[in-house]
Amino acid sequence: RMEQYAKLRDVPAVTKDGVEIALHMNAGLIVDVPHLHETGARSIGLFRTELQFMLAPRFPRMNEQFLLYKAVFDAVQDRPVTFRTLDIGSDKILPYMATIDEENPALGWRAIRIGLDRPGLLRMQIRAMLKAAGGRDVRIMFPMIANVAEFEAAKAIAHRELAHLERHGHMPPTNVQLGAMVEVPSLLWELDTIAARADFLSVGSNDLVQYMYAADRDNTRVSKRYDTLSTPVLRALERIAAAGKRAGKTVTLCGEMGGRPLEALALLALGYRSLSMSPSSIGPVKAMILAVNLDEAEVFLASLLAREDGAPSLRETLREFAAAR
Ligand code: PEP
Ligand code: MG
Repeated sequence: RMEQYAKLRDVPAVTKDGVEIALHMNAGLIVDVPHLHETGARSIGLFRTELQFMLAPRFPRMNEQFLLYKAVFDAVQDRPVTFRTLDIGSDKILPYMATIDEENPALGWRAIRIGLDRPGLLRMQIRAMLKAAGGRDVRIMFPMIANVAEFEAAKAIAHRELAHLERHGHMPPTNVQLGAMVEVPSLLWELDTIAARADFLSVGSNDLVQYMYAADRDNTRVSKRYDTLSTPVLRALERIAAAGKRAGKTVTLCGEMGGRPLEALALLALGYRSLSMSPSSIGPVKAMILAVNLDEAEVFLASLLAREDGAPSLRETLREFAAAR
């Protein structure tokens, strides 16, 4: 199986009816990066920067962060990288940071909320990223954006850091793209505004589904009750893809569902053309893409979503559809 997937490395991910899908890879540590070349993924579509922070004995200094981001750029060579700013809080704890007791950590002080309340930390991280990106393109995205104002505030910090870098005579990146993660359901009602103001969107379906169903993603007693392949989730995901398309902005989905072939099939049918996933998923998802007639899948999924039968999951029906091809 692995060998079979290795053979697909340089095969473009094109559906039977000729639609090309961009497959990217999720990473979090420098040791993950070689998988980019092994899998033939187009870029690192999500670099989770918090892993380095979680392994460090203390808050990494600017220069330590710079060295990691630089090492990532050196290792990816000419491929693009999308760095996500620190997504700590909830289940991701930094042992050296004073923990605050929260009744509901997943709904608490985390990710961009910390970044905006402690802008020194966010500024330092963005400065390290921009410095490391000198002379090349970089994409930076912000986690847990709940409204457009938070995204604008994060953007302003990035713009200030860019100006600072140039003022101090550092080589600036050739291009900086700033994106918002769509993973807090409130953004579903601000989609056109966020799509207009972001350079790109990235859907964090792990969190989006957790918050839509009010079901802790790490608590299987409740997370298994609700299916990602359900009408409410798929309708939400469809709206995000459509808003990106209207605004002419790329929408990538980087949650775990994108790496599961059946879910990925549904995502393509909803309009997704860019998925970022763990390295081991690239082969299986590409194999699905090569075997699918997207036009048929779109028609089929649209008919499922139009049904008002209250079915809690479309999984079996989709599986039958996939198996019959
Ligand atoms: C997500 O929420 O889907 C996501 C990609 O980010 P994380 O799993 O790191 O929260
Ligand atoms: Mg998330």
